[in-house]
Amino acid sequence: MDETLEMIKERGREIEALRATAAILGWDERLQMPGAGSGARSAQLAAVRKVRHEKVSDPQLGELLSSIASESDGAGSEEDSALVRAIRHEHERLSRVPTAFVSEFSENASASAAAWMRARETSDFLEVVEHLKKTLDISRRFAAFFPEAEHVADPLMAENDPGVTVATLRPLFGELRKRLVPMVEDLSKRSADALRPPYAPGGDSKAEVGLVREISAAFGYDFERGRLDLFDMPFTIRFGADDVRLACAHRGGDPEHALFSGMHETGHALYEQGVDRAYDGNLLGKGASEGVHESQARLWENVVGRGRPLWTFVYPKLQQLRPELNEMSLEEFVRHVNRVEPSPIRTRSDELTFILHIALRFDLELDLLEGTLDPADLREAWNERMLQDLGVSPTSDAEGVLQDGHWFASGFVGGFFQSYAIGSLLSAQFYEAACSVQPQIPANMESGQFSALHGWLSENVYRHGARYEAEDLVELATGSPMSVEPFVRYLEEKYAEL
Ligand code: ZN
Repeated sequence: MDETLEMIKERGREIEALRATAAILGWDERLQMPGAGSGARSAQLAAVRKVRHEKVSDPQLGELLSSIASESDGAGSEEDSALVRAIRHEHERLSRVPTAFVSEFSENASASAAAWMRARETSDFLEVVEHLKKTLDISRRFAAFFPEAEHVADPLMAENDPGVTVATLRPLFGELRKRLVPMVEDLSKRSADALRPPYAPGGDSKAEVGLVREISAAFGYDFERGRLDLFDMPFTIRFGADDVRLACAHRGGDPEHALFSGMHETGHALYEQGVDRAYDGNLLGKGASEGVHESQARLWENVVGRGRPLWTFVYPKLQQLRPELNEMSLEEFVRHVNRVEPSPIRTRSDELTFILHIALRFDLELDLLEGTLDPADLREAWNERMLQDLGVSPTSDAEGVLQDGHWFASGFVGGFFQSYAIGSLLSAQFYEAACSVQPQIPANMESGQFSALHGWLSENVYRHGARYEAEDLVELATGSPMSVEPFVRYLEEKYAEL
């Protein structure tokens, strides 16, 4: 039995090494590769993904897994059974997907991503409609490999947030909308007179990214086991426990892009760096789900990053880099970074209207998947919903329907946006749980001390990696299942003081 277990673990290590290899190719593609290399890179990535798919779906692995009769029986320690469960899940899931489909998926994703980049430049949705139709078709065919699913979007969401279904999310979004819409109305009126920082054009990008580094390190990010680069679309990537890299955006003029994208990605990176070393190099060496991952990014970016305690520590440093802020008080600046103001652009939205953005995308992708919305009509549907839900109209496709890459560059329509909403809810829930046992957390942050919060998160969330399913992890860490209440409480408390 030990021998079988060892063979399964070895398979798991190979599968994870292939994932990391594809990730390195992807990192290089974004940050180092000359543009002309994209054709060869697509082929290289497709080849690695194909090998990984073959490894995961290998019938021999299936035989090994079935010879370990049940998940607990014979699988040694609790960690081992969790690992076997993860490998079994991956094997059973991907065995249903033929290799030819994976190649088709990969080719279409690359072609559609390239078309989306062009369409964004010309701001013309029509340039991607045909690609979107194909991606929608691929998404439906993928879902059809899981005929037991209740809704066509469920298998797509299971890719990122296992256990989450349309049946559970629809009421959740309904509840969120009901609670947030009146708050948005009230708070956007109250935010109307919040001052804007008088940023001078330009700014010392090196020094501003330096401040991002200082904040990341203070949060607990270990630069000896990672690196921070600049990239227009911020991201975090894990190659192994000792190599977790992030990239933040810097746009001249406004240092907040770098600061908030840096704090967001640092949240992702802290999670990956904090996973128990024992899981490194195998399938448990990652976050529990995309929703939980996003919760860590949003916790550090928003709950911490937009709070008065953090800015008590950071604002004097920012004022040093930006003397034009000397006339703006800390209170005024904190009001500014928390202003509630509907924007056509998701990534520039406040914490409340952000959720309305996500709900809109979630509904539209369900309409597309259900076939009640034709891809050709997506732009009109988008603009209509934007006006209805947020009261704003995009001035172009680039800042409207083409603003996010998810439907155009990921290869699937569906399965991604729910993670952001889950992340928002859980960010407040984890933070509340941390503060209930470590009430000194906010006061510590005023002097740049984040170790109490980082320690609580490491102990209760990070170290577990993917050992527990997201639902169980949330219960274990916070004592309750995911709920809207901590998030609403967090917003009410914060805005009562602004
Ligand atoms: Zn994120």
